[in-house]
Order: sequence, then structure tokens, then C-alpha cells
Amino acid sequence: MAPFLDSHLHLQDSRIETEEIAPLLKRAAKVEVGKFFCNATREKDWQDVLNLSKKYPQIIPFLGIHPWYVEECETGWQNRLADQLCAGNTGLGETGLDKRCQADFTLQKKIFQEQLEIAASLKLPLVVHCVKAWGSLISILTDFKKHTQLPTIQLHSYNGSLESTKWLRELNCYFSFSQRFFEQITPSQKNTFLQIPLQQILLETDSPDQFSPFFWPEYKNQTQNEPAFIIRSYEQAAKIHKIPLNTFRLQLWENGKTLTKTIVKLNN
Ligand SMILES: [Zn+2]
Repeated sequence: MAPFLDSHLHLQDSRIETEEIAPLLKRAAKVEVGKFFCNATREKDWQDVLNLSKKYPQIIPFLGIHPWYVEECETGWQNRLADQLCAGNTGLGETGLDKRCQADFTLQKKIFQEQLEIAASLKLPLVVHCVKAWGSLISILTDFKKHTQLPTIQLHSYNGSLESTKWLRELNCYFSFSQRFFEQITPSQKNTFLQIPLQQILLETDSPDQFSPFFWPEYKNQTQNEPAFIIRSYEQAAKIHKIPLNTFRLQLWENGKTLTKTIVKLNN
């Protein structure tokens, strides 16, 4: 049986001690969580993500510039990013738009569009973080699609409206949900979730962020999230869709494989 996939996290984050990685992956393996899409957030952590993926083949690397860090970008980052991506086995992430953060929004849009172009030209998957900027995101993607084929897009920690979901579903995006989404899920969130075809759903922890004491009351003193905790998201999501857990798990494994088919072959 294919392992559970954690489709978005940041194992290079400085809050996770280097010597903690191996035990953390062991705890994940114990509950059959065995593949991880690890996203960089700025140029200075690209090498850390690549090093982790070299050491642990179950970690699939994504390199990019997160909207929170666009003001740190140094001249020539586009070529350096493209060079790293051309070296192989790497997706593009985490990118996006965030109206709640301090970074200049015009600059965010520019840097997001540049990464969208790089992903499209290299035919690589693109991981998108979007907070309170759905209109801008949808209009950038729709305009882009008029002249160039969109890359495959993963919307990480998705929590858009039903209306945004309809648009983004048509753009063949993958919708990746964190455990927080399932905490006290409202009827409208549930309805939105059910409108997404199973073939476009992914689940993620976003470790070390987004730990859910709601689903893990026995670990209420835990400060950091980790991949082993994704299990209860799978249980919740399968329950909402009224399908057996194993069927759901296999479907999400296939979704992850399809998303990353141009960068790496997922075995098992
Ligand atoms: Zn993230």
C-alpha cells in the first residue's frame, strides 16, 4: 500500500533541530507517512532543502520565493532559481500572494508572476500560498492562460470561498488542506470541500506550523507540527467524503504523483 503523503511542509525551518529530522521521519514512517513535499521560502534556504532531499529520498524539494520574503530578493534570483530547477527533481514553491503581510503587494505580484513564468517554461509544478488575495490570484492566472499554458498548481493551506474554488477548479489546480481547515469545519467550508473532485485534493501538515491541538488533545503541550500528525486529516477528509480511508489515501498518493510527474517519479 502506498504511504500517506504530506504534500506541504518546511523541514528546513530553523525551529526544527537538524538532529530532530531523522527521529521525526521515523515517527512518520511508523504511522505510514512516507513522502513529503518540502518547500523553501527564500533563496537562503534553497540549499538546505536540497541537502535534506539528498539525504532523505522521501523528501521532494520545492524551491521558490514566499510572498513574505519578496523584499529580500537579490538581483539575478530568477536565473539562479531557474538554474537550480533545471538541475532536476525540484518543483517551484513556495510562492504566492498575501495581503495580510507587510511586504509590498505590487512587488509580490511581480515576483509571483516571474515564478509563474519560470514554472510554465520548465513545466514544473508551482506551489501557491494565497491569503486575502483570491481576486488578484485568479486574474493573474486567467490572464496568463490566455497566452501560455499554466503550470500545474498546488494551492497550499487552501481556504478559499466557494466562488474562488469554482474558478480555481476550472484552472485544474490541486487544493491542499491543512488540519486547521478541518477544525470545527463550517457547513459552507464543508460544501466547498465537497465541490472539489477527489482527483484535485491533497493534504498537508505545513510543519512545523499549524499544529492542531483540536485533533491531538493528548499532545496539547506540543508547539510544533510534524508529518505523523497528518493521519487525523486523512481520517476527517475521508469521513466527509464518505469513502474508505484506504481508497482516499491511494487517491491522494496518485494525485501527488500526477502533480509531480514532471519532476520526479514517486515509487510504490
Ligand atoms: Zn508553507
